[in-house]
Amino acid sequence: MALCAAAAFFLQPFNAASQPEQNNGISISVQPERVEQGSVVMISLVYPEAAGTSCSWNSRTFPLFTDASGRAFGFVPIDMDHAPGAQRLSVSVKNAEGITAAREVSFEIIAKKFPEQHITLDESKVTLSANDLERHNRERAQVEAMFAASQPRRLWSDAFLQPVQGRISTPFGVRRFINKQPRNPHSGIDIAAPAGTPVRAASAGIVCLTGEHFFAGKSVYIDHGHAMFSMYFHLDTIDVQNGQSVTQGEIIGRVGSTGRSTGPHLHWGMRLYDTPVDPLSLLALFE
Ligand SMILES: [Zn+2]
Repeated sequence: MALCAAAAFFLQPFNAASQPEQNNGISISVQPERVEQGSVVMISLVYPEAAGTSCSWNSRTFPLFTDASGRAFGFVPIDMDHAPGAQRLSVSVKNAEGITAAREVSFEIIAKKFPEQHITLDESKVTLSANDLERHNRERAQVEAMFAASQPRRLWSDAFLQPVQGRISTPFGVRRFINKQPRNPHSGIDIAAPAGTPVRAASAGIVCLTGEHFFAGKSVYIDHGHAMFSMYFHLDTIDVQNGQSVTQGEIIGRVGSTGRSTGPHLHWGMRLYDTPVDPLSLLALFE
């Protein structure tokens, strides 16, 4: 890319156009252009002169990362309750001289019908004892504090993988009702697998929390940097320690049925910038 072309690019305002957009060597694409509620959008940007980039949507700013080929890319999580409709996303590019330009691209959020699960239980099994409630609140506070302390650098490698192979027994986003009372929707996917099956890190990162929690049972949380987390619940054994660096595919524990669980399975959750998303939508971006 010649320097004069870069200068011309930064002096001119960006124009909105259909994707992928190309202008003076810059190419921005949004994948998928029609995204379901609870899924992840990937922003890709090719511009050889760029020294720093970010994108913003819905009053929030998201980092973009650069891969070996010079492509910048990043993720925008769509909350499962975000209203469907046309969206505008702003991409900010900074060149080597520190001059910043912004450009808009569009995508659309489409409604997803999340299944409902109605369970009837004896009230004594639903209402937590004072001790259990106190324990759960303490564990919740610990998890929230950990989510707020993500490493400010990218720790993960090029893609994500499914930690365990098996049937998806409960999909993401299932809206649960116990005795007709709405509960938190399912924040991950349940993968059925025999007890003892190795559970692998979805990508590289740092183990930021392990413990045996009231609902989640034996749990591992991995920080992938920049507020990207993966979590693994109901484990039989935990094979890693807090603060340990893990590589993609490294065994972090074994499938079990600890905590509130009715049989051996892995609950796998992905959380991007405070928003739980369907882990399968993240995997689909790398296929
Ligand atoms: Zn689950």
